[in-house]
Amino acid sequence: MTNSKSAFDYGKTYRERALKTLGYGASSTPRGNQKPAPIVTKQGRNAHITDQTGVRFIDYALGYGPLILGHSPACVMDALTHELSLGLRTASIHEGEAELAELLCDTLPCAEISAFVNSGSEANHLALRIARAVTGRNQVIKFRGNYHGWLDSLSFGNDVSSDGPATLGQDTSAAQSLTLLDWGDAKGLAEAITTEHAAVILEPAAINGGCIAPPAGFLEEVRAITKSHGVILIFDEVITGFRLSLGGAQQTYGVTPDIAVIGKAMGAGVPISAVTGSAAAMEPLATGRLLHRGTFNGNPLCVAAAIACIKYLRNNKDWLYDQIDSMAEDLRSHLSLAAAEQGIVLSASRVGSALQVFVNTPQVQSLADTALVDRKATAAFAEELLIRNVQIIPRGLMYLSAAHNDADIEETKAAMTAAISAIK
Ligand code: PMP
Repeated sequence: MTNSKSAFDYGKTYRERALKTLGYGASSTPRGNQKPAPIVTKQGRNAHITDQTGVRFIDYALGYGPLILGHSPACVMDALTHELSLGLRTASIHEGEAELAELLCDTLPCAEISAFVNSGSEANHLALRIARAVTGRNQVIKFRGNYHGWLDSLSFGNDVSSDGPATLGQDTSAAQSLTLLDWGDAKGLAEAITTEHAAVILEPAAINGGCIAPPAGFLEEVRAITKSHGVILIFDEVITGFRLSLGGAQQTYGVTPDIAVIGKAMGAGVPISAVTGSAAAMEPLATGRLLHRGTFNGNPLCVAAAIACIKYLRNNKDWLYDQIDSMAEDLRSHLSLAAAEQGIVLSASRVGSALQVFVNTPQVQSLADTALVDRKATAAFAEELLIRNVQIIPRGLMYLSAAHNDADIEETKAAMTAAISAIK
């Protein structure tokens, strides 16, 4: 462990400077909330980031999820370097686009036709548009506590305790085309769904709410109910795609949606997301009846990185997923044990290699339970970890990567024990 003080001093000074000209001092509001100060990164290698003053942190934020191969994996850096040597070729037709679409067909059960965009939010926007086009209907069902990005159309009920808009400034009229239901409640869905609905969209595993696996039978029932009403089932696999398994949540849970939205891990850290689905569901896009535009869609750099990442995951799937999942389990059980030993109430949940800790909170079993989370205590725990050179997402979410090793895990466990003791 290195002394992290210089990193925080630097971070505080940087934040004061950035706040003068950069909104909230960071390019995404949650990033501006890191305490005791933002880590101003200089370099990322394997499971570590180094800040501008040379302090090293073990990283479990992993770019908010994408860095499944860790920082700067050789296969992706080589692909990017080669691609750069060819020039940026933005908005051109290039063979990588078809190659990447073919790779999705080889790996994801639902994939027949794909389209590429730059972010998970955009991909969900496009998926809804396709669902509306193919059904000729307008209404959409979303579940409370699921997150689908920052766009107005889906940013309601992101928190289980409010059906309201996620932020100031949102177009609240978009709520008129949304029906909000409880995630995990198939009976509620069966009662609410009508032939006015174009789509049901959900996180197949509720990673954003608290790393909660789908209740037994839920996804199967959602599949059957949507099918019988001619409603398009969209799995938002922005997190779970290429992270839960090579074939994502749809492979892990054995339920195939009409359309899946894939993001984060598919690109190993570059901005790329995909909408992929059956030829029938994707027909309006496949035939060009539906407008899908975007200067940077499918740009060669991002496509090259995604191809390299997916090939690496495919070639190493036999050990990689077991390894990252068991490291996550090791940390999860350590957290539970250390908290019990020190008399702290703590919830630690895991889905695959995603791990959620809530401090001063009884074990969360369902999304509804997250209404009881002590967010302040959880943020304080994240802060204590950062002081001990371990970075997690401040709301208590962590990801594992293929680059974490046993030494990282042991160092992290020691930091976790000490951080729990510090917040007692
Ligand atoms: N869907 C899910 C499930 C996500 O977790 C996120 C991002 N955390 C998004 C969509 C939005 O993706 P992006 O931030 O790339 O727009």
